[in-house]
Amino acid sequence: MIRGLVQGVGFRPFIYRLACRHGLSGVVENRTDGVSVIIKGDIKTVDRFSNDILEKAPPASRIKSIEVNPRMIEEFDSFRIVRSSNSEEITTEVSPDIAVCDDCLEDLENDTERINYPLVNCTNCGPRFSIIRAIPYDRFNTSMVVFPMCERCESEYRDISNRRFHAQPVACNSCGPQYYYSDCETRISGIEKIIAKTASLISAGKSVALKGTGGYHLMCDAFNNEAVSELRKRKQRDSKPFAVMFRDISSLRQYCHAGKAEQEQLLSWQRPIVILRQKRPLAEEVSRGLNTTGAMLPYMPFHYMMFRYLKTSAVVLTSGNLSDDPVITADNSAEKYLMPVADGLIGYDREIVNRSDDSVMRLIDNKMVLIRRSRGFVPGPVETGLWVDGIFAAGAEQKNTFCIGKGNQAIMSQHIGDLKNFATHAFYSESAERFGELFRFTPQYMVCDLHPLYLSTLFAEQMAEGRNIPLIKVQHHHAHIASCMAENKIDEKVIGISLDGTGYGRDGNIWGGEFFVADFHGFERFAHFDYVPLPGGDRAVAEPWRTACSYLRKYFGDSIDYYSIPLFRKIDDRDLILVLEMLEKKINSPLSSGAGRLFDAVAALAGLCTVASFDSEPPIRLESAVKKGVNLKYPFSAGEVISFADMFDEILRDIKNDQTDMIPVKFHNTISNLILELSEKMQKETGIKKVVMSGGVFQNRYLLERTLMLLRKAGFEVFTHQIIPSNDGGISVGQIAVASKTIGLCV
Ligand code: ZN
Ligand code: FE
Repeated sequence: MIRGLVQGVGFRPFIYRLACRHGLSGVVENRTDGVSVIIKGDIKTVDRFSNDILEKAPPASRIKSIEVNPRMIEEFDSFRIVRSSNSEEITTEVSPDIAVCDDCLEDLENDTERINYPLVNCTNCGPRFSIIRAIPYDRFNTSMVVFPMCERCESEYRDISNRRFHAQPVACNSCGPQYYYSDCETRISGIEKIIAKTASLISAGKSVALKGTGGYHLMCDAFNNEAVSELRKRKQRDSKPFAVMFRDISSLRQYCHAGKAEQEQLLSWQRPIVILRQKRPLAEEVSRGLNTTGAMLPYMPFHYMMFRYLKTSAVVLTSGNLSDDPVITADNSAEKYLMPVADGLIGYDREIVNRSDDSVMRLIDNKMVLIRRSRGFVPGPVETGLWVDGIFAAGAEQKNTFCIGKGNQAIMSQHIGDLKNFATHAFYSESAERFGELFRFTPQYMVCDLHPLYLSTLFAEQMAEGRNIPLIKVQHHHAHIASCMAENKIDEKVIGISLDGTGYGRDGNIWGGEFFVADFHGFERFAHFDYVPLPGGDRAVAEPWRTACSYLRKYFGDSIDYYSIPLFRKIDDRDLILVLEMLEKKINSPLSSGAGRLFDAVAALAGLCTVASFDSEPPIRLESAVKKGVNLKYPFSAGEVISFADMFDEILRDIKNDQTDMIPVKFHNTISNLILELSEKMQKETGIKKVVMSGGVFQNRYLLERTLMLLRKAGFEVFTHQIIPSNDGGISVGQIAVASKTIGLCV
């Protein structure tokens, strides 16, 4: 029995060919708990065969274990692949979607039935998670079921020596799904015409909605500022930096700095977006003054074909959705909602069953770190070292993912998004149901955030009540720390530092600048950032100047002349007076220790962001403005409550002395030093030397790398994230880990 990621990755045919090569007879079979191989042969040959399995496995597979049981078996006169049977044991993983392989790209030019066939695929590449409805992974359980194979495809599908042997989405020009183009006036079929039309629209500065692997994208020329700005306008409220797809790695390198690890990741079969430092600018509107670009390379045959005709070497490729809704997958919704946004629409008639966004990664501390875990990674499991079977973890609210436990594996959902509107919530419950089917999972325990109003909390409460199963609640930052412990397989008391924007605290306040002594069972709040009132609650998150005002008033009272500070000269008098009044009378001003708010306030004072136009804009701009190679920092006082009075005093002095451009680097250095100082204090009191850092703030490369350098120099053993997002996307894994210990499940 072979377990791991071994289905949907060409594993059975691989085993078949290997067995033939070794002259072995027997059978191979996909089962829900793995791939079962029965072979007849002497021990030595079987040994060599097993070693070859490990060494020569298909690129997208990941073998976790090979279990060999010698026994008496019937006679076999050949080696066969038998049809999938249902077995009720632990489910084998469903493969993530795989970028088109080189062999298939060659077929686009040379295979008579697949010349320019834009959905060409084989056992080594193509859609997987995005087309699967149920297990076992077989054509009849995918959205390919409505495309009967032609004779030639069928013969390849059955021919063991063929690369398409048992490739479930196998198809060609005569039998497979087809692309189409449509706009208000015309509908075009025929791939050459579609691509010619695309190219002419893009070079005319128009935008196109394009169906991808896990959802629709919106696309336009990344060098045409007018086109990008028009797309922004039509997409509504969306001013996030746009991701860019480059023609190939060499054109990417003309515009972005990409080291070896980054290039390898860009070219990996997962093909994520990688956040890179800019070398030369694209259209101004693409990243809006930031010094980074989210870059990716073609991963569908259509992308490659398109670039053959496009004059431009880079296109904006942003998710096809409106404001905060999930990315659109259904063709009729695309026509309804994206047609008015784009000038033309390109779709194909194979259904996307499971939505997934492009994954996002960044190089931090010489490791490729996942920031958004979706296409190419989901539904690959995460080993936690804990027994998490039967637990459903509902996740947080922002950047939500949920997570189910199968044995000791945590299976995270794709990135769902911010659970605050109906569409996202529907996506959440649909996906939860789908994961139940795909992994034959029935929840026995529910776990959720402490926040009483998160939709994920309500979902968990309803499920627990409806099924009459236990519900466990985990504090947000405890879950952050636990997610990082689980990823690093640490199960002991640690110094846990969690810096993020927002999380419901045990005292009912908003937490987010937290220093814990923690393990999976619980935590002690050793120290935290000073509480500051947020005038207007969520309004203050959207308008960082409010938080800046709040900090100044808190530390300096009425002695501040707001109009001596450039930031407040930009604010309408009435708004400023209103905010000061709210603070004075404590109206709608919840208390927050969120590190994110401190970054907001400093970014506002540094003149980088008065009003945020997208999530995390102030800290992103603050990081982007850091002057490297400066060691200056601000003072602070690190008691049980960490006060920033002295820091703000000096920030005001820097502003007065025309040193505003030094604020970003000095502020970042301050936070690094604060982490060091507190870690040393905690170590002195507890003897603990392991530091675990988690929370969205640690996606800040400058901050994390500097902090790591300081902590390591001081002899700490430091643990950070790599495969689980440091932001709230990782919360579900932390919840599942804490729940496992709370319930007392044993491995
Ligand atoms: Zn292929
Ligand atoms: Fe968080």
